[in-house]
Amino acid sequence: MMNKQGRPSQPQSDNASKSFETFSGHRGLQQEEGIIFDRARSGETGVDLPIPGSRPSRLGGLERTEEIGLAGLSEPEAVRHYVRLSQKNYSIDTGFYPLGSCTMKHNPRLNEKVARLPGFADIHPLQPVQTVQGALEVIDTLAHWLKELTGMPAVAMSPKAGAHGELCGLMAIRAALEAQGDARKVVLVPESAHGTNPATAAQCGYAIKTIPAADDGLIHLDELKAQLNDEVAAVMLTNPNTCGLFERDIVAVADAVHAAGAYLYCDGANFNAIMGKVRPGDLGIDAMHINLHKTFSTPHGGGGPGAGPVVLSAALAPYAPVPYIVNEGDGYHVIETEEQSDVSPLGRMTAFYGQMGMFTRALTYAMSHGADGLRQVAEDAVLNANYVLAKLKDLFSAPFGDRCMHECLFDDAFLKDTGITTLDFAKAMIDEGYHPMTVYFPLVVHGAMLIEPTETESKETLDRFCQVMRSLALEAKDGQSDRFTQAPQYTPRRRLDETQAARNPVLRWLPPKSDDISPLQAAE
Ligand SMILES: *Cc1c(COP(=O)(O)O)cnc(C)c1O
Repeated sequence: MMNKQGRPSQPQSDNASKSFETFSGHRGLQQEEGIIFDRARSGETGVDLPIPGSRPSRLGGLERTEEIGLAGLSEPEAVRHYVRLSQKNYSIDTGFYPLGSCTMKHNPRLNEKVARLPGFADIHPLQPVQTVQGALEVIDTLAHWLKELTGMPAVAMSPKAGAHGELCGLMAIRAALEAQGDARKVVLVPESAHGTNPATAAQCGYAIKTIPAADDGLIHLDELKAQLNDEVAAVMLTNPNTCGLFERDIVAVADAVHAAGAYLYCDGANFNAIMGKVRPGDLGIDAMHINLHKTFSTPHGGGGPGAGPVVLSAALAPYAPVPYIVNEGDGYHVIETEEQSDVSPLGRMTAFYGQMGMFTRALTYAMSHGADGLRQVAEDAVLNANYVLAKLKDLFSAPFGDRCMHECLFDDAFLKDTGITTLDFAKAMIDEGYHPMTVYFPLVVHGAMLIEPTETESKETLDRFCQVMRSLALEAKDGQSDRFTQAPQYTPRRRLDETQAARNPVLRWLPPKSDDISPLQAAE
């Protein structure tokens, strides 16, 4: 079939493309990529260093005695290896990325431009503070925006991810309780919480108790009240929660928590749904982290660098960690140690002030949108998610009704008796060129599919996506299970043994012991 420009609109027939193996192992311009060490030659290097003369060693016997073990490649070989790997990545710049809870927004290019200005990009945290007044002002101005948006009096800027912000918030809660001489031992976490919530509480030495979800996907208020007592240090609640629903009883929750002498931690990963609409401080929240890489459009960057500033209520503000920035009219100063502080910092979370490159990007995002623009971000994020829900709900199964916040949740009831699982469905989406939605999370519904489009996607993108999703759902119901159970077919690798990869990761390449042992076997 030809398209209007006379080019074939299909990449040949299916059989033709599968009928021969190439000599090279490559498939067209999809190049097969091995492990860099398998390609390497010992004694080879891409840089040209002079042979060192003989000098007395100053390393005190700590000199390396063995080969350094770097892969020996020429510069072009090394460049190609990493560029080819990067091209195998799916990214927000490649296509739609509807990963629920993770908020994969477009990263505006303006953010990147500002972050690369030499005055921001080329400074060092050990420079004297008089020489980095502008950078400190950026941090302080972003702090101001975050406090205004959340209605909270203080913010700790240094935590480097959402989970790190949770740790900071719970450490502040623990410090406040200890200052009252109160050694409470328990943190309550709803069933639908992100795994980082109980992990954080455990890291802080607390026992975790789970609050079951009510039938409507919200926190079970009576169950919460029944579990609140003078052993409970904090409740960790996500709002909007991970089912994409606003916790309507949040004020009653806060009142009950405070009446029990405990603190309310809010997981703010979904703040993008309510920014400019509701101020968490007005809801009685004591601490909440904000993932700048979610709500404020900074890159997720392969797990880092992130930034997770945590806003704190008046009760917790004195315990915010060092370093923090003050300005009493004579320029910016940094309070570096607990001794310099006139309050009671919980200590230090990070080496320096936090992720400067993320702060410049997030402030650029905030200032380029303005207060009204940020409110519209939240409104459009919610609108887009409801659009997807409305387009899919007749073929998919939506357990919690037909309204949602910034993400919509389906379970696997629509796949009943098809022999197809949520995982199979997700793999079939990869063949269609889509990064799957979040699957099997939250745990409160069976075979969860959590879709978050974000406000940065156009209606056309969402229409195309929903069209593909509908077609897949119809195929599944029609009994075409091979398309799902055999998927993915068009990726460089097919199904991986994910359990094996998670339980027994091979993280280190070791040279094969002899020609007939593969490197992976040798590493075991
Ligand atoms: C992303 C997320 C977290 C953890 O944040 P990181 O920045 O990835 O550490 C915690 N809770 C929820 C609900 C999230 O979506």
